[in-house]
Amino acid sequence: MLDALSTRELVAGEALFREGDSGDCGYLIESGSIGLFTEGVEGQTLRGIHYSGDFLGELALVGQRIRTTSAVAREPTKVFIVRRLDLDRHLADSDPLVKEFVLTLLGVLRNMLLSNWDINKSSAEGMTTAARELEEVQSITHALHHNEFLLYYQPIIRLSDKKVAGFEALIRWNRPDYGLVPPAEFIPLAESSGAIVDIGRWVITQACADMKRLGLSAGTESGDAVVPYISVNLSGRQLTDSELMAVIESAIKENQLGPRQLKLEVTETVLAQNIQAANELLLQFKLLGVTVALDDFGTGQSSLEYLHQFPADTLKLDRSFVAAIHQDSTAMTIVRTVARLAKELGMDTIAEGIEDMDVANSLTDMGVDYGQGYVFARPIPFEDIENYLLENGLAT
Ligand code: C2E
Ligand code: CA
Ligand code: CA
Repeated sequence: MLDALSTRELVAGEALFREGDSGDCGYLIESGSIGLFTEGVEGQTLRGIHYSGDFLGELALVGQRIRTTSAVAREPTKVFIVRRLDLDRHLADSDPLVKEFVLTLLGVLRNMLLSNWDINKSSAEGMTTAARELEEVQSITHALHHNEFLLYYQPIIRLSDKKVAGFEALIRWNRPDYGLVPPAEFIPLAESSGAIVDIGRWVITQACADMKRLGLSAGTESGDAVVPYISVNLSGRQLTDSELMAVIESAIKENQLGPRQLKLEVTETVLAQNIQAANELLLQFKLLGVTVALDDFGTGQSSLEYLHQFPADTLKLDRSFVAAIHQDSTAMTIVRTVARLAKELGMDTIAEGIEDMDVANSLTDMGVDYGQGYVFARPIPFEDIENYLLENGLAT
């Protein structure tokens, strides 16, 4: 049947297609081999090699027109060209069982595509990984619907008097038969699969509800007492969630929080990747009155540039600087300069990951306003917050 397909012959080094090209066909390698590459700032990265009998460029068959990799022959290579039309024709002629199977596989591919899945995986090994990841994504989605996520809270301490100014909400997965799973083990997959959007909405809603449960919402507290804020991490995907503002607004309203009781943390890497969406959102956050922190400051590129570009309220100095200040005089100078610059720009500063009191004291001397780290408290479950506050007191 395949001899009805047209073929193409390539010499070594010749490109079959390039990243960014539009395409409407896949290829089956008859002989030779093809390398798949992606282009980055540091040049090309090899994503995989396909040999005789392998299929590539298949995403064009499920609707993606733009190639996400470049395919280059590694030796004289001959490929069959499979157009969507050819595929439909072959499918129409095939056994109903085979047809159903292929259509199901194409559906899976399409879903992965719609959620921007990184599929440069057509080798057998790649498919096994993809299948495992698909299963894991299903577990993550299942976890959300079965209340397996919970929030831990890490106190944020005002350095001048060591009182509690707020809490950062940090997600945990209480996975049956595993125990508590840290975010680093599931957030990346939740991000690449798109599940983070629903998880992120849940985090905002839950964190605000927890604030109310504590009895510390602005509306219920008497007099002018300062109430702590809750800080929630936003992932890049959430910046393009059309429901984000509505979710934030209703979480604040339903729990009678003052808008300044919610802070949203965005890393500068996320900002850099979504400059326009981030700028628009930042304006909306300002209008609503919720505050924004620039997280992991100092780990991305051109950090100082973002300070001017994004009118954040708070700057969170990354743990890597904080840990280095007693070993490295450059780190010390950077922290001091950034704290001063932030102040000039009207921002306050939080140092993350403080593990020893000498470091906390130096940071205080350098003009850093707040601190967060194991030396003060590890992230604690909701049930322990009340006691923690009783023992340590709120900033006033
Ligand atoms: P992050 O936003 O930078 O959060 C701070 C991380 O540093 C937390 O890890 C915290 O437990 C840890 N940490 C705090 N103090 C210290 C210290 O003194 N020493 C050391 N070595 N570590 C300290 P965690 O809870 O494992 O969270 C890791 C990352 O996962 C977070 O980094 C954040 O990027 C992400 N994450 C956590 N919760 C959420 C969430 O609800 N949504 C999203 N999108 N990301 C989340
Ligand atoms: Ca954070
Ligand atoms: Ca951080």
